Amino acid sequence: MKRKLNLHFMTVTAIAVFLTLILSLFVSYDMVKEQVNEEIKSYAWLLKDVYEHEGIDTQSFEKLRDNVRITVVAPDGSVLYDNFADEKQMENHADREEIAQAVETGEGYAVRNSDTLSENLFYYAVRTDDGGVVRASKQASSAFGLLQRIVPLLIGVVILLIALCVVIAGVITRRIIAPIEDVGKHMDNLETVEVYDELRPFVETINKQHRDIMKNATMRQDFTANVTHELKTPLTSISGYAELIENGMVDEQNIVKFAVAIHKNADRLLTLINDIIRLSELDGMQSAPEFEEIDLYQQASSTAQLLEMTARKQQVSISVAGTSQVIRGNRQMIEELIYNLCDNAIRYNRPGGMVEIEVYRERRGVVLSVKDNGIGIPPEHQDRIFERFYRVDKSRSKERGGTGLGLAIVKHIAQVHNASLEVISQPEIGTQILVVF
Ligand code: ADP
Repeated sequence: MKRKLNLHFMTVTAIAVFLTLILSLFVSYDMVKEQVNEEIKSYAWLLKDVYEHEGIDTQSFEKLRDNVRITVVAPDGSVLYDNFADEKQMENHADREEIAQAVETGEGYAVRNSDTLSENLFYYAVRTDDGGVVRASKQASSAFGLLQRIVPLLIGVVILLIALCVVIAGVITRRIIAPIEDVGKHMDNLETVEVYDELRPFVETINKQHRDIMKNATMRQDFTANVTHELKTPLTSISGYAELIENGMVDEQNIVKFAVAIHKNADRLLTLINDIIRLSELDGMQSAPEFEEIDLYQQASSTAQLLEMTARKQQVSISVAGTSQVIRGNRQMIEELIYNLCDNAIRYNRPGGMVEIEVYRERRGVVLSVKDNGIGIPPEHQDRIFERFYRVDKSRSKERGGTGLGLAIVKHIAQVHNASLEVISQPEIGTQILVVF
């Protein structure tokens, strides 16, 4: 790219300089021609004066010479005098373009190859009082001579220009490319890279994407490590208990106790696997899920019914209040969201506690509130409970069949539905989680 950019700059410069050169040559040539013309024109008029006063006075003509060819032509076209050739040898000049013109209009002008001198000449002829013509002429080469003096100067300027352009093109290219190269080199520390204004939005986007990628990679790494650890724990227990039974080290009395432990750990493993699969499904979701109109109040009521038994087992009451509110969403996901919130409200509760579900409309949207008067969440943990595998009290969560993934699933579902989550909780008093659609 650097080379390409440099090449482009140079090509454009070369073309510009070349065109300027050609144009200046044309203009210079025209100017020089004009100058020579003016010169011989004034010579011709001077010549006419001298001729009319003194006739063919070679001495006076001599004074005028200065490399100018002087020709005096009689009215009949015969050459009376020429300082560059022998007039006796010269043919009749009546048909010469400038002379014919001068005879007719008083003055004539031509640039052509001289038969007499076989050279390109500028001619200027003026009619004299006696009907003849005096003519001044100068070699075209004299014009080229002048031009020849200009050309080296022009070439010098061109070389200087090209050199200047090469330097400027190099500097500009470096200024454009260097920040881009810097961005590539310091991907991990883009804030320190100095870039020009036009590049800033690009760098900011790249920076954000890079941070997201890194964050995702770390999260995935953490998740994999956590999954491995979480799966290993119940499996190790199952394997340990089974081995003890296998080796006949458990007596009849305890065998049921061990079977219960194995059963409990296997159930835990299943729940874990289900939650992990569910999260992976949500993560891998390419397109938006199918949305339909859902009455949130109705959905909450049926989920509460579903959890009635679980609640009763924990000696917790569950109730639904509010009004019918219709939202657009994915039924399975909304059911899952309500289920997970209520399940937590029951599990992290105390015997005699209660769970209140409420659905209502506020200025900011439709609200689903799940409130309990359970153990509560200490303030320092409230921000983190939606993270995967995060638990306030690990042993308590495990004991109550928690996986640490329920609220991560809730958060994911809320995101898909453009809903916001709010936690209001106080330890020993209770927790209220609000989902605002
Ligand atoms: P788990 O499967 O452990 O319940 P969640 O993701 O559902 O995982 O919740 C994460 C943590 O948040 C829980 O371990 C628990 O400590 C805390 N938590 C969630 N809901 C409540 C609640 N209603 N009352 C008290 N603590 C809660």
